Amino acid sequence: MTYTDRMTSVHPKARISALCKQFYTLGWVSGTGGGIAIRDGQMAYMAPSGVQKEQVEAEDLFTVDLDGKILEHPADPKLTLSACAPLFLAAFRLRDAGAVLHSHSQNALLATLTSPEDAFRCTHLEMMKGIAGTGYHDVLEVPIIENTAHECDLADSLSDAIRAWPRAHAVLVRRHGVYVWGKDWIQAKTHAECYDYLFGAVARMRELGLDPMVPR
Ligand code: ZN
Repeated sequence: MTYTDRMTSVHPKARISALCKQFYTLGWVSGTGGGIAIRDGQMAYMAPSGVQKEQVEAEDLFTVDLDGKILEHPADPKLTLSACAPLFLAAFRLRDAGAVLHSHSQNALLATLTSPEDAFRCTHLEMMKGIAGTGYHDVLEVPIIENTAHECDLADSLSDAIRAWPRAHAVLVRRHGVYVWGKDWIQAKTHAECYDYLFGAVARMRELGLDPMVPR
């Protein structure tokens, strides 16, 4: 089996279960927060709300259409759809994303606290090249929106930021985390890893008194 076959032959539900376990070990989806949704044409697969993400199995996932209407409910009737659903759907619809990831990573959190008002910015860092459309000499920008008491209330401001920052593949949420997407789950995961690396590197640079916008 080729690399590409091996990476794409797994059903999206099983892929979400596997990715949630990986992201849990990174501290991105601890305490039941965060998660990932994968789109398949006009349908998408999403995790339930308020459950231990590293314990989520394929049978626990919801199938929804791109308006958020539930097409298939998990076997357990007590499960409810993730509060992130409207946010995942915004990236699917506005960016034609194939997968969207939500992380409560501390690196993302720190990026929202140490960046200037409207956006995270850095330049001349090798890992920027992992973000589609970004080169080493560019300025990488990720918009920051303000947090709300309830996750679903972020949908409008997240949609506005997606429209206003067409080169970004992520939106940071102040004192909360980040939403990251890609054309498929592989690109979304790559983007999430590169962004998280950059958020962490810039936080460390600021601790050391280095300006992430001044290459030296
Ligand atoms: Zn969240």
